[in-house]
Amino acid sequence: MSSGEAAGRGGEPERVRIRVEGIVQGVGFRPYVHALARRLALSGWVGNDGRGVFIEAEGAAEDVARFQRELPGQAPPLAVIDRISVTAIPVLGERCARGFGIAASRDGGRRTLVSPDVATCADCLAELFDPSCRRYRHPFVNCTNCGPRYTIVRDVPYDRAATTMASFPMCRACAAEYGDPGDRRFHAQPVCCPRCGPVLRLLDGRGGEVAGDPVAGAVAVLRSGGVVAVKGLGGYHLAVDATDAAAVAVLRSRKRRADKPFAVVVADVAAARRLCVVGGEAERLLVSPARPIVVLPRRADTAARRPSVAEKVAEGVAPGEGRLGVMLPYTPVHHLLAAELARPYVLTSGNVSDEPIAHRDGEAVERLGAMVEAFLVHDREIHARAEDSVVVVAGGREIPVRRSRGYAPLPVRLARPARRAVLACGAELKSTFCLVRGERAFLSPHVGDLESYETLRSFVEGIAHFRRLFGVDPRVVAHDPHPEYLSSKYALDLEGVDLVAVQHHHAHIASCLAEAGEVGPVIGVAFDGTGFGADGTLWGGEVLVADLEGFTRVAHLGAVPMPGGAAAVRQPWRMAAAYLDAAFAGAPPEGLAVRERNAGLWGRVVAVARSGVGSPLTSSAGRLFDAVAAIVGVRDSVTFEGQAAAGLERWADPAEEGAYAARVEVGPALVIRGDDLVRAVVADVLGGVDGAVVSARFHNGLAAAAVAACALVREGAGPGGAGSGLGTVALSGGVFQNGLLLSRVVGGLEERGFRVLTHRRVPPNDGGISLGQAAVAAARDAAGPP
Ligand SMILES: [Zn+2]
Ligand SMILES: [Zn+2]
Repeated sequence: MSSGEAAGRGGEPERVRIRVEGIVQGVGFRPYVHALARRLALSGWVGNDGRGVFIEAEGAAEDVARFQRELPGQAPPLAVIDRISVTAIPVLGERCARGFGIAASRDGGRRTLVSPDVATCADCLAELFDPSCRRYRHPFVNCTNCGPRYTIVRDVPYDRAATTMASFPMCRACAAEYGDPGDRRFHAQPVCCPRCGPVLRLLDGRGGEVAGDPVAGAVAVLRSGGVVAVKGLGGYHLAVDATDAAAVAVLRSRKRRADKPFAVVVADVAAARRLCVVGGEAERLLVSPARPIVVLPRRADTAARRPSVAEKVAEGVAPGEGRLGVMLPYTPVHHLLAAELARPYVLTSGNVSDEPIAHRDGEAVERLGAMVEAFLVHDREIHARAEDSVVVVAGGREIPVRRSRGYAPLPVRLARPARRAVLACGAELKSTFCLVRGERAFLSPHVGDLESYETLRSFVEGIAHFRRLFGVDPRVVAHDPHPEYLSSKYALDLEGVDLVAVQHHHAHIASCLAEAGEVGPVIGVAFDGTGFGADGTLWGGEVLVADLEGFTRVAHLGAVPMPGGAAAVRQPWRMAAAYLDAAFAGAPPEGLAVRERNAGLWGRVVAVARSGVGSPLTSSAGRLFDAVAAIVGVRDSVTFEGQAAAGLERWADPAEEGAYAARVEVGPALVIRGDDLVRAVVADVLGGVDGAVVSARFHNGLAAAAVAACALVREGAGPGGAGSGLGTVALSGGVFQNGLLLSRVVGGLEERGFRVLTHRRVPPNDGGISLGQAAVAAARDAAGPP
């Protein structure tokens, strides 16, 4: 009865034209505006165009004013309003059709924002499991508040015709809901039902149709230890019963993935709690509409409590890990599988090893056929890839590790808008790209490691899709100075654009500034694996004084050789050999287990390190972690980058307060003496001190040294006094995914009165590099000659 209650009051009629920009399409914004206008008895219309939502509203002045006031306040939960502009226009009066309607969409310059995909909402979930509902067990149930978005959008404006739902005409019942402003499905573009929507099917490994209920059939395959390829939102996944050790082993061998952890899907938060320790922030993330994989600590008491089947996740899911990546179902298909299987299942990207996730049907059958017993598929096309996002929680704070489904393509708003459109091509590992138009930086979903033709193709296709979606024609292209990265080669091949090379660690710090909406200058601590340094060595333990335009390297870890280059990344014991040789002037003490374990090659590796041939110097913090991990005995070789460092973090006793001392030498640039830490580690290891204590003292010592370097820089000890008086520190680089190191550094800096910026929205790892490159290129272009 709200309709008309406010009518007839408030004096002379007025008419306004309103434009709303932000995430306002595909989130129920038009129905919301429609309902608000009807409640205030206004006439006019609302519609979508390429820039967002346009509104014309007419009524009594007081009602029109109230409409404007209330418009932003009660917007639908998924809407993100960036800007509302209002213009008064002539009143139409009698010429104006009575009532308020929804206008046809207009194409108006592609400036709108596309929503990320949204997990099945509570209302739709209730319908999914309600036998009296016409969408009972309908694998594609969705509404204005949930469902596929980015992955089905071919073009803007966001309307059914521009999505992969275009080929499914609505039945009368669905069309009635779609057209009813009072319905939860009013103008929900992917709305459908069992009569008119896509169809779920079960295929055998060769693509032949299997009769019967497809979900029940898939569950039977999972229960018998088989691998099922499941077509999801942003690509195909491979699923196995997570409690079945043999099935997990089969999946590992077929996927050629040695021991990198898999994530599991559990039905709900209660099921997650049976496996892991779930704190408040972790629970918020688990149930959030983005539904990322949340990496959680395993429950220590599981064995003692005699776990039921549902709690016995096979060791092979995350070998040697004290942690488990857990995710709640985010599509109706995942919910149906979780309910019928009634135990956790592994859900991992449908690909071999490091290739991009398969997302097209024919290609999926071809690429995955030999890896699976069955395919659970449907005929709604996936237009854009999006892998699952990953976050860790450390010290109660969220650290994004992979930003993809559920987050992309939400833009980051830059403090220094771009004068001309920018494309940033990112790094090589954990590749992403970024397009900037004005103040908005659109960071792509995770693409993968740009080391294969398949991934490069996915990268190039992704850029083309983003350019179309956001109407951006980049004139400025940013890239890493590393000449061998495929992303750099791609950039250098482009014609008619201005190229901007952005140093890797400057890009890290700039990404941290960009997501915070700041411009610097700050003291930036960039700790990562390795990136191309400005002096020909490999950097990775850097303290920079940086703003968006430039940087000065003010401090760094002392450099050591990386014997064999890339081989030293795969074999952390080589870094141990190099560090020990450097720290003990060629004569490390006897009795170290790492040396005994690798006695056969030790002498040769030390000789290679000393010769410098094929052994670039590196100041990398990641490589220091590798060396210490090998010396402590965590592991001598790795199958994926960061594995040894992550192991060392897990070993650390968080209650240990002791810290090894490392000098910070004042010279042309400050040098953090990592070799001091190595000598202290060796003394404790030889003294029989427990690895958990050694690891913690190393973390605490490195953190203290980083804090001390920042304090010295603030006092003006950096080269040329750069950084003197700066009170803000930005922390970036993949090493800061280490929650223990991060919390120790943050704590130490705050104790010394620094303000600290850390990553909250984009990963500290190389997945954030493209955003940093983009922010730097935009700032330099804005500052440059017109
Ligand atoms: Zn819903
Ligand atoms: Zn229908």
